[in-house]
Amino acid sequence: MSEPSQTSRTFGRLEGALSKLFTKAAAVAALVDVAEGFRLVTLAGKALGGVEWVPGQKVQGMLGGWVQRTYTPLAWDAAAGSMQLLAYVHGEGPGAAWARELRVGDTCALFGPRGSLDLNAVARPAVLFGDETSFGLARALRFTPAGAQGVHLVLEVTSAAGAAAALDAIGVAGAHLVERRPEDVHLGEVQEYTAHLLQTRSIEAGVLSGKATSIQRMSKQLRQLGVPRSRLQTKAYWAPGKTGLD
Ligand SMILES: Cc1cc2nc3c(=O)[nH]c(=O)nc-3n(C[C@H](O)[C@H](O)[C@H](O)COP(=O)(O)OP(=O)(O)OC[C@H]3O[C@@H](n4cnc5c(N)ncnc54)[C@H](O)[C@@H]3O)c2cc1C
Repeated sequence: MSEPSQTSRTFGRLEGALSKLFTKAAAVAALVDVAEGFRLVTLAGKALGGVEWVPGQKVQGMLGGWVQRTYTPLAWDAAAGSMQLLAYVHGEGPGAAWARELRVGDTCALFGPRGSLDLNAVARPAVLFGDETSFGLARALRFTPAGAQGVHLVLEVTSAAGAAAALDAIGVAGAHLVERRPEDVHLGEVQEYTAHLLQTRSIEAGVLSGKATSIQRMSKQLRQLGVPRSRLQTKAYWAPGKTGLD
């Protein structure tokens, strides 16, 4: 391999300096494979202490060479200087590779926490729709002043058994899981269930996360069924064919 040029060494130093300036340094304190494809990551460090975290916010992990991927803290202990995220490890993208290869003691640089969804502002009763990437968001509900009560979870997932095991392991109960089917035909079932919730539970608000196209359909349905736009929070976490959405 050839030696790095002066330009690339300078660029590397600049990258390091900028990263230090704007990010928080953390180290992996614990890793638990809670179910197949789901890794619970605990990060700790002085820089994570004293942080004001609003449940629903995001962090962005710098994975090297300006590549970053976004995750949702499911808990943040500002006194101890630690936070947790649940990574859905699928495919071969940089985020999946990062989560898969992490070892206890590894260091990383984080941006955030920064604004994304504001779970503190969600009126109850509410519907929270999402998928495997939204499990951390669902868990974070319990740190809102109103708690997780009154928020009905509706999640599209690849494997209901795997999803149920992961949710159970992180302490999220009562989610309605619908397995994905080709051409998104399962969204019919998701919408039937959501319509039933709206009729029977006087739903006041919606939080929509996960796959961009599913969010669009759910948003349209909730508005048609009378949930005002001002009571809908939406955030696409990923879209087919797009990388590192955010
Ligand atoms: C605000 C925010 C919060 C998020 N929180 C979490 C979180 O807590 N946990 C978590 O696991 N993820 C979370 N995500 C999603 C995560 O950032 C993306 O899934 C990201 O694309 C993963 O990076 P990657 O490098 O593995 O894949 P990429 O290189 O980004 O994508 C590679 C390919 O995989 C596809 N892809 C990406 N995600 C999925 C998916 N979930 N299912 C199927 N195909 C997919 C892409 O469309 C692309 O074709 C969040 C995203 C945002 C914007």
